[in-house]
Amino acid sequence: MHTANVYREQARDLPIIADIDIVIVGGGPSGLAAAVSAGKRGMKALIVERYGFFGGMAVAGLSGTIGGLYNSTQTGRLEQIVNGFAGQFVNLLRARNGVTDPLPFGNTALVVHDPLVWKETADKLIQEAGVHVMLHTLFVDAIVEEGTLAGIIVERKEGRGVIRGKVFIDASGDGDLSMRAGAAYQFGRDGAIQFPTMIFRMARIDWDRASLLAAHELEELIVEQVKSGRFQLPRRHIFLFPSPRKGEGLINCTRIARPDGLPVNGSVTEDLTWGEFEGRRQIREYERFLREHIPGFDKAYVVDSAVQIGIRQTRTIVGDYTLTNKDVITMRKFNSAVVRSAWPIEAHGKDVKIVNLDDDYYEIPYEVMLPQGVEQLLTVGRCISAEHEALASARVTAQCFEEGMAAGIAAVLSVRDSSTPRKADICEIRESMIAEGAYL
Ligand SMILES: Cc1cc2nc3c(=O)[nH]c(=O)nc-3n(C[C@H](O)[C@H](O)[C@H](O)COP(=O)(O)OP(=O)(O)OC[C@H]3O[C@@H](n4cnc5c(N)ncnc54)[C@H](O)[C@@H]3O)c2cc1C
Repeated sequence: MHTANVYREQARDLPIIADIDIVIVGGGPSGLAAAVSAGKRGMKALIVERYGFFGGMAVAGLSGTIGGLYNSTQTGRLEQIVNGFAGQFVNLLRARNGVTDPLPFGNTALVVHDPLVWKETADKLIQEAGVHVMLHTLFVDAIVEEGTLAGIIVERKEGRGVIRGKVFIDASGDGDLSMRAGAAYQFGRDGAIQFPTMIFRMARIDWDRASLLAAHELEELIVEQVKSGRFQLPRRHIFLFPSPRKGEGLINCTRIARPDGLPVNGSVTEDLTWGEFEGRRQIREYERFLREHIPGFDKAYVVDSAVQIGIRQTRTIVGDYTLTNKDVITMRKFNSAVVRSAWPIEAHGKDVKIVNLDDDYYEIPYEVMLPQGVEQLLTVGRCISAEHEALASARVTAQCFEEGMAAGIAAVLSVRDSSTPRKADICEIRESMIAEGAYL
């Protein structure tokens, strides 16, 4: 039926293309960890990813560093505090020279990874775990029967199809599955979300010279050049990270606003479209600035941009527990913890605000992954239930890996016991994680 603004789609039969135990939507850090953790425990698991590779924002968005592995310290005594799936993954990257040694970041540290080695490592792990994989496959809708998620609808080159499952894990980063399944969700602090960044890589950098410049000097140079009118550089607090490849660097410096100044919203197509153009425009402006003003960058050039603008935050679910800003600041511990974190609150608003934690860590409980309003669903990664500043800390890669690992195990237990993730034995999840090296 056609009216002025509506087209009524014809009802049609869709083929059931898979009937499986555990279905994961999204192959970023959290989805990868969930799929591998479920697959290696002998469960029939299937992962759906819209791109042709795994990595999500860490690879397609070139976020490029694994943060959240280490403690927060003012003494310089660095200690790894996260070591489950994250530890295994970093060790595999290290074995192939695909990751740097720890580099300081505020009171903690990060490691920079090579995106190709990241993809290859993910390929190997997922294949070894026997996970069924559908790349180039877009999740488009959820099938909910009496409040229970029973299947998903995907779009492929061949057309639409249905995947039925027993437990589902939403690792889409944007909470696509949770939203479609009718789970409660929200956007940041009263709708305010963080700004995205289009990250890029440069080659022919002389890091010996570039490293001599202190962060505050770099910031002062940017402010000075913007004032002079020679450059349009919307962000002054920028990060330049040496990558594992000699002379190469990962440049995290753009800030992608809409024409009205608000952050580009990664769940709105018009915003995303604008953001891609704006991101690539800003890359060339920062390249020009870096070459002209930063020692060691005079011969450097842009190798490539991220596959897409890096989206830090869109929807977050309303879970059985919401990680609060106070939990992070007071470094709260939980009996149901599935991961520790000492990453600062790194909030990308009009300015980059970094609040370092003091010589301790907080914990993220299992219940932040249980969306209210729907059964048989776990939601992981950057769309867990968390307040705005809390998410600005908890969203980094090591924590996403561990949440995925916990969710994968929870899904396995739910299928084994013909039960639901809401009733999963959290002690058993933690024990299973610890047995695989997690620090809990
Ligand atoms: C600009 C930027 C810089 C960052 N810097 C750092 C850093 O330095 N260190 C650090 O540790 N972390 C950093 N992060 C954070 C980190 O990269 C992300 O938080 C992390 O990747 C989130 O993992 P995720 O699995 O939750 O989601 P994502 O990485 O967003 O992965 C989601 C996956 O789901 C897929 N997907 C989405 N929707 C669908 C759909 N409908 N159908 C099929 N597939 C779908 C996507 O293609 C993607 O592969 C940064 C993030 C950004 C954006």
